[in-house]
Amino acid sequence: KGPDPDLVTIVERMATVKHKILVLSGKGGVGKSTFSAQLSYALAAMDFQVGLLDIDICGPSIPKMLGLEGQEIHQSNLGWSPVYVESNLGVMSIGFMLPNPDEAVIWRGPRKNGLIKQFLKDVDWGELDFLVVDAPPGTSDEHISIVQFLQASGIDGAIIVTTPQQVSLIDVRKEVSFCKKVGLPILGVVENMSGLCQSLSKFRFMVPTETGEQKDMTESIIADIKKKSPELLNVFAYSEVFDSSGGGAAKMCREMDVPFLGKVPLDPQLCKAAEEGRSCFADSECRASAPALKMIVDKL
Ligand code: ADP
Repeated sequence: KGPDPDLVTIVERMATVKHKILVLSGKGGVGKSTFSAQLSYALAAMDFQVGLLDIDICGPSIPKMLGLEGQEIHQSNLGWSPVYVESNLGVMSIGFMLPNPDEAVIWRGPRKNGLIKQFLKDVDWGELDFLVVDAPPGTSDEHISIVQFLQASGIDGAIIVTTPQQVSLIDVRKEVSFCKKVGLPILGVVENMSGLCQSLSKFRFMVPTETGEQKDMTESIIADIKKKSPELLNVFAYSEVFDSSGGGAAKMCREMDVPFLGKVPLDPQLCKAAEEGRSCFADSECRASAPALKMIVDKL
């Protein structure tokens, strides 16, 4: 039996891609797609040629996060053309192929694997410095095939995104052991939604009353602060949201001997930028999350 012809095509296609990074998470909703999107924006802002491939087939959120909702893929004689945010940031997602974004994608393994293979084989990325691959959450058959395909063409490694809670970290341990089993290097773990951080002026101050209601005291409290020490309004207030008494991702990384890349706070402004399909690095409002994300990118 000769080599798998699809694998040969994938290796040929990937020959023009210098670095390949797979973004993984144990669970859904921890910010994997947000991280993939912002990592791609950051690399593009550093003048690299970047491709972002969304193979989170059951929940493709990348088109929205890159401001590309409603766009369609075009085909040329070189293959499927990515949709471009800027000339050096191209995106491919199953989201571009669904006639209705509310439609659920209910596919079984072989069909999903077929599409992933096709994405790796048929997308005409051209020369890329980085290909960021946003994988589905968990570890499944799809993950094994993605890793096999990418390993055949040389993959740099995986970044694992988690939140600080134990329930998420337990799944990250599984993710780490998956990577070790399949021989995929772990570039590091990112702890996302690691405490709430935003300027004091954005908080609402609620005080419980005797009748059990919550009275909004924001106006008077803010007026008071403005009068006494206005500079306090620009102070970033930071609060732990999830229980991290277990040491969070940093401790888990030490125990499992994998690099810890850093923490990204829960930042409502980052959520807004993602919802509106924008880069947080070009957004002066994302003062809590953008520097944290940039430090992580610089470590890679
Ligand atoms: P996943 O890809 O892991 O399923 P998403 O990236 O889709 O998760 O994130 C889930 C939701 O949480 C999105 O609405 C996203 O904008 C928001 N989100 C992710 N990370 C943060 C953060 N650090 N601060 C605020 N909101 C975030």
